[in-house]
Amino acid sequence: MQSFFSTFLIIYQQPVTWFMVILGAIVGSFLNVCILRIPEGTFFKDRRSHCPYCHTCIPFWHNIPILSWLLLRGKASCCQNPIAVQYVLVELFTAFTFGFLYWQFPFFQGSIIHLTIDPAEFIRCLHAIIFTSLLIICSVIDLRLKIIPDVISLPMILFSPVWIWIHPQLNWFSSLLGILFGGGILYLLAWIYLLLRKQSGMGMGDVKLLAAIGGWLGFESILPTLFIGSIVGALIGIAGIVLKKGVDFKTELPFGPFLALGAVLYLVYGPDLIFNLFPSE
Ligand SMILES: [Zn+2]
Repeated sequence: MQSFFSTFLIIYQQPVTWFMVILGAIVGSFLNVCILRIPEGTFFKDRRSHCPYCHTCIPFWHNIPILSWLLLRGKASCCQNPIAVQYVLVELFTAFTFGFLYWQFPFFQGSIIHLTIDPAEFIRCLHAIIFTSLLIICSVIDLRLKIIPDVISLPMILFSPVWIWIHPQLNWFSSLLGILFGGGILYLLAWIYLLLRKQSGMGMGDVKLLAAIGGWLGFESILPTLFIGSIVGALIGIAGIVLKKGVDFKTELPFGPFLALGAVLYLVYGPDLIFNLFPSE
């Protein structure tokens, strides 16, 4: 009986999951605009999209997330120049992430006849999708330009009190300590690196990003986030050296995407994350 109900619940929740996937693709399209326009400082200039090659105005039916790219076969309709694959990747990734996060925080509960929203789960899901969306913007900008924009990380820190107020698991002490500890530990590492190597190895962008992560997830998130970020970053770096993808020991890898990955894994799997990764039995 139990398994029948859980199967039913999964099937019935599929429409909402698909809705979240579609919402993710649309948000992903907006994230692309942020990724492109925030570093240029053109976010509020001219809302309409233009072709980056010939500057023709792109009609809205050529701007449908994922679908337009497939229908146009990756080429701009105006001048047949290739559309950067980054756009569709960000849309697909955001779509998948939204579906995954709803699956982790399913705020619709009950049966199809008696549908209710679990308010605490709704806040958790909202927090998770806004957090992840902001980290996607920071990560892609960091991958492209090796900067993490202050216009994302600093408002994230300033917004922490809003989440402390409404989120069921955050509290003042943990969040404030998270900002200080997250920013402080990377600042200290950057300072030590500067003393030892006489060159800066870590940008202040990473410092502010980890402070923001601490504010949004609490100080307990800092060490797991740093641990996973460093391990995955090191593995990717080694893979780059082995495969000779233009990476050597002196190459500065962007740290933002790896911190973001660690933070989102912590957000979903919580404090047991490290133990789950390395089960003792
Ligand atoms: Zn064009």
